[in-house]
Amino acid sequence: ATGELDGTVALVTGASSGIGAATAETLAAAGADVALAARRADRLETLATAIENDGGTALAIPTDVTDRAAVEEMIARTTEAFGGIDALVNNAGVMLPAPVERADRDDWRQMVEVNLLGTMTVTRAALPALRAGDGGHVVALSSDAIQSPSARFGAYAATKAGVVAFADSLRAEVADDGVRVTVVEPGVTDTELPDRITDEGTKADVETLVASMRALDGEDVAAAVQYALTRPAHVSVDQLTVRPTDAG
Ligand code: NDP
Repeated sequence: ATGELDGTVALVTGASSGIGAATAETLAAAGADVALAARRADRLETLATAIENDGGTALAIPTDVTDRAAVEEMIARTTEAFGGIDALVNNAGVMLPAPVERADRDDWRQMVEVNLLGTMTVTRAALPALRAGDGGHVVALSSDAIQSPSARFGAYAATKAGVVAFADSLRAEVADDGVRVTVVEPGVTDTELPDRITDEGTKADVETLVASMRALDGEDVAAAVQYALTRPAHVSVDQLTVRPTDAG
């Protein structure tokens, strides 16, 4: 296949479902060799096979982004298999909203460790490869939850606002090396994200919200990632907000 991303390598975290899986498929269809990372190895293998059957190139690399040694191993395996990394998509995330007073502190810790520290750790590990290439690109998934605050989403929004702060500083740090940094802030997207909510009332409310509108699909957000990655080298798409039209 000939595509806009031919000859490039993309590493997508959280590629076992939702936005990450759609992004991996989209980038592979555009010609990128894709490394697929997340914890559910069976899901990654199924996706890698589907991408290969469509004429793409994919490698499943089961990884927990909160495990620093596993993250280093993920980067090493990607560069070994594909010769480098051009684009890192920090998509792995968990959303565990709850009222502050009854929130589970383990839920808070997991959101910080996956959404914020995971993004930071994976980015740190990938930077040498990204700098070594021909204009690397870091994409990070934040959320429009930081633009229009809702009750019960404070801890989640804190991690996603942290992602923006980290990305904005990183941009200033790596621009001289031709490395670009893009933050994508999606609105409600129909994925498995609500499935892990532990606060039952909140979980039901989120499911009702998603069902109440024509939510985005993972592919809609993947298209935004593809757009940022395929601009000419002198164009930096710093931030993209993509929301359901229905959300008003
Ligand atoms: P999904 O739950 O479908 O996908 C989340 C992905 O993150 C899964 O692949 C999951 O894989 C992975 N993940 C979770 N924990 C870890 C971990 N410790 N190590 C590695 N991977 C992990 O939800 P979405 O596709 O919706 O979420 C993708 C991103 O988009 C998240 O960062 C989310 O916050 C963000 N987002 C989503 C919105 C929405 O409305 N859906 C709106 C705004 C932002 P596994 O469990 O196999 O490890």
